[in-house]
Amino acid sequence: MTALRLLVAVLGIVVMATACGPARGDASAAAGDRIRVVATTTILADLVRQVGGSRVTVESLVPKGGEAHTFDPTPSDVRRVVEADLIVRNGLGLDDWLLNLIQDAGAKAPVVALGEGLPGVTYVASGSEVNPHLWMNVGYARGYAARIAAELERIDPAHADELAATARSYDARLATLDGDIRARLAAVPEADRTIVSFHDAFPYFAAAYGLTVDGTVVDAPGQDPSAAQVEALIREIRAKGVKAILAEAQFSDKLVRMIADEAGATVVSDLYTDSVGDAPVDTYEAVMRWDADRLVEVLAGA
Ligand SMILES: [Zn+2]
Repeated sequence: MTALRLLVAVLGIVVMATACGPARGDASAAAGDRIRVVATTTILADLVRQVGGSRVTVESLVPKGGEAHTFDPTPSDVRRVVEADLIVRNGLGLDDWLLNLIQDAGAKAPVVALGEGLPGVTYVASGSEVNPHLWMNVGYARGYAARIAAELERIDPAHADELAATARSYDARLATLDGDIRARLAAVPEADRTIVSFHDAFPYFAAAYGLTVDGTVVDAPGQDPSAAQVEALIREIRAKGVKAILAEAQFSDKLVRMIADEAGATVVSDLYTDSVGDAPVDTYEAVMRWDADRLVEVLAGA
């Protein structure tokens, strides 16, 4: 942290020196200049890209396949947040590390927490915290997209009409996606729709699309369960006849496979929750379709 703070100080001076010159001000005002957005995760970055279209450039701080819950920012992230016109985070404890980064970097861009106080959301507790994985319900992701659109239109009012039109067409795609996932999961018999997930990423997905989540393998990423907790989970899976344990692409599935073998459940591997993957699973829409397809495949076959 000391090394990072030192780099923050050094980079801060460089950025200030650049910002003080007239050239940067002119460039920002020039027509055709894109809004520079920094998002904490690749999922949120994709939402910004889809909503902002050609009006934005966007970068994710957590890299593809990286771990959002326990992310450790690097010195290059300092420059990213300092140079951003808008900083997008999820909030609800997922990406609190961003707040220290912003403070240390002295970043001045507006920060929007997409998941906090979102209208129409039924929040779910995860231990003593509010579960942050709202985007796993596509209906809530539409709320995220609407918030992003409002921020972009405020920052770039000259292109508000274009931004609103792009946001509207993306919202229509998300509405279709939401209906498709609901219909696909509804086709699985209700008795086969009970799952255990690796980390607690599925409560909003489950509530929206009719799954029952009957436990998680870890309390939070980075917190491995004790032997006794693993034993208890295995007993629970056997007792309740849980069909599937959901592994996730960004986490090792070794522990999940061991538990599934012991309990006689099927592992659904390669689900995406907190990060996009490689093509073709490289957008939020593709992630949600992929997860729904994999779940239906395993649950319907159970
Ligand atoms: Zn997560």
